[in-house]
Amino acid sequence: MSYPQLQMLIAGEWTNGTSGVTENVICPADGTVLGELPHASKEDLDDALNSSLEGFNKWRSETPLNRQSILEKAAKILEREFDKNSENLTREMGKPLAEAKIEMQVAIDLLRWYGEEGKRVYGRIIPSRIPNMEHEARKVPVGPVLAFVAWNFPATNVMRKVAGALAAGCSITIKPSEETPATAIAIGKALMEAGLPAGVLNIVFGVPSEVSEHLLSSPIPRKLSFTGSVPVGIHLQKLAAQNLIRCTMELGGHSPVMIFKDADIEAAVKHCAAGKFRNAGQVCISPTRFFIEEPVYDEFIKSFKSHVEAINVGDGLDSKSTMGPLVADRRLEVMEDFISDAVSSGGEVISGGGRGQSPGSFFEPTLIRDVPDTAKIMIEEPFGPVAPSASFSSIDEIIERANSLPFGLASYAFTSNPRTSQILKSEIESGMLAINSMHIHSVETPFGGLKHSGYGYEGSIEGLEAFLVTKYSSEIYT
Ligand code: NAD
Repeated sequence: MSYPQLQMLIAGEWTNGTSGVTENVICPADGTVLGELPHASKEDLDDALNSSLEGFNKWRSETPLNRQSILEKAAKILEREFDKNSENLTREMGKPLAEAKIEMQVAIDLLRWYGEEGKRVYGRIIPSRIPNMEHEARKVPVGPVLAFVAWNFPATNVMRKVAGALAAGCSITIKPSEETPATAIAIGKALMEAGLPAGVLNIVFGVPSEVSEHLLSSPIPRKLSFTGSVPVGIHLQKLAAQNLIRCTMELGGHSPVMIFKDADIEAAVKHCAAGKFRNAGQVCISPTRFFIEEPVYDEFIKSFKSHVEAINVGDGLDSKSTMGPLVADRRLEVMEDFISDAVSSGGEVISGGGRGQSPGSFFEPTLIRDVPDTAKIMIEEPFGPVAPSASFSSIDEIIERANSLPFGLASYAFTSNPRTSQILKSEIESGMLAINSMHIHSVETPFGGLKHSGYGYEGSIEGLEAFLVTKYSSEIYT
């Protein structure tokens, strides 16, 4: 098996750190121990912080061209290691290998895209009111960055932050998820082999709340970028406030899907089934509240059910599997709780509804119809393979219901009416909206939420801007 030795990257060295504490990394498909992950001591975290300051001072003075060339070399190394890294991603996270490969490819694309875009960090000259005076606004890297990320996309969650920070000229200290460390380590190895100077990237692990509390109490970091749940995002923002650290918050969502009666229903069902059960529903932009216009409700549900029943649940490394396990056993109970609450609120389970094979953290793809908006699963982010559905009767009604939650990450609609599309683009409260597909992100497009789903963007020029600040200067030519 290729699962690597798990270590941290501190000040340019791969190390087990000094705490002596480790935790096991578990394969969600069969419960076996994949590896032992070292935790950082406070001294290790201080070493990482100090080296990130030294790394920043080196890296910001590199030309964007040299930075891009290192990122490009790392992209080529990740291509060389593509199959091994994809398999390890599946081992530690559970998603089918085909999905892991797509994710690894997107991570490589992110690295290349950001590297290139880093060459285009332009400032501007502002015309002056005073003769012989020039106003200049230039973009400079914000400083050493801290990042904490969730386990559901072990490659792209890490790469969005690492590639963006590095392309902008920042150093970055990242704590990936302790549940999926090997993918982040593989990214770190590629960057170090490509020639990244010591301290520019640090990778640490530990008890998340302790690591973040220690790192955020330091005056060194100038930016925090977090991908995870709303409560943890709010907690981290409070910690960051102590040192007025700027934040990007990529938090949870609860995405409505609105199927209008004029939509191509068969096409909508195909998109919804693929989108909903991708990564077993453990996706922040996963469609999670299915609203179908009354006249096509039964037709949609009948077809959706047949697609759900065609999903093949199993070990992600088995090429026949189209859905893997959940990330860990702790998620199974959460799904059961959502389903029993939905049923006691009046919903009807029409497919799935229970745990899958054991050992492994498997859960059946589940479809529930007639779920009232007051059921827990219509209010809290499900983050699993359960699709609750309900009908609606007018556009005004569905816009109000779609906007009723504090979340505002992604929304989806299926309609052939351009007027409906226009109204939704204007009225739906979410950072991202896809009409007639589930395609909502590319490396070139801005990814981010509104309301409690967070603020700031990753991907696109906004993603690079997140790691830059504007410095203004004026000069009178004598
Ligand atoms: P979580 O917030 O509990 O944990 C997310 C990550 O943060 C984990 O790796 C964890 O180790 C770390 N973490 C937890 N507490 C921490 C702390 N006090 N300090 C530092 N790090 C801490 O969320 P989860 O339930 O494990 O992950 C899923 C959540 O992430 C969902 O809400 C999902 O929508 C969200 N998510 C958002 C995006 C996005 O881009 N908007 C992408 C992926 C996941």
